[in-house]
Amino acid sequence: MPLSDIQDRIAKEEARVGRIPGATTLIAVSKVQPLERVVDVLEQGHRVFGENKVQEAAGKWPDLRESFPGVELHLIGPLQTNKTRQAMALFDVIQTVDRPKLARTIARIATEDGHCPRLYVQVNTGEEDQKAGVSPAEADDFLAECHALGLKIEGLMCIPPAGEEPSLHFALLAKIAKRNGIDNLSMGMSSDFERAIAQGATHVRVGSAIFGERAYD
Ligand SMILES: *Cc1c(COP(=O)(O)O)cnc(C)c1O
Repeated sequence: MPLSDIQDRIAKEEARVGRIPGATTLIAVSKVQPLERVVDVLEQGHRVFGENKVQEAAGKWPDLRESFPGVELHLIGPLQTNKTRQAMALFDVIQTVDRPKLARTIARIATEDGHCPRLYVQVNTGEEDQKAGVSPAEADDFLAECHALGLKIEGLMCIPPAGEEPSLHFALLAKIAKRNGIDNLSMGMSSDFERAIAQGATHVRVGSAIFGERAYD
């Protein structure tokens, strides 16, 4: 589907639910996609992208950033502690802060390097064993811990369980954000971004609907 179709669908949903036009940022999820598809979207003027692996992003985005100034890159996959420094240098936003050890490592490196990307906390709204993220019950304490470490958390992120109505998970994420005074909500993917906008998403992460199916994941 062309990028402009996705942008139109976002605008329509914003209008339908009475959100401010342009309130939703589209993160084009470029993981695993052939480089020419990514370049095509950059050439159309899009600048906000998401990647789920540090190594993969490190292999393509430094060069792409040189050719296309103004790129904003989001890490949307789990971050191993030993890749924290690399991720902090590479990404503008890390959406997957999900455990105290990682929060402490980010805080330490931010002090050492004098630079910290914008940060989101991932919440495992479905409490799935195989998914990263703090549980909804732990979220308030974890956010307080991040705050105590001097980290400013500007958003929450979730990936609802497959096969469940995502709107319930989006609403739960919105509730946790609201009671913690957090403004940004990263939720909604190719199959459900309109439902996420209806629940207050400020950022939707759309991959296959823009770029086509991934050859592998
Ligand atoms: C791959 C991925 C997406 C995009 O998924 P699509 O279904 O291709 O839109 C969004 N969020 C995360 C965390 C992902 O890993």
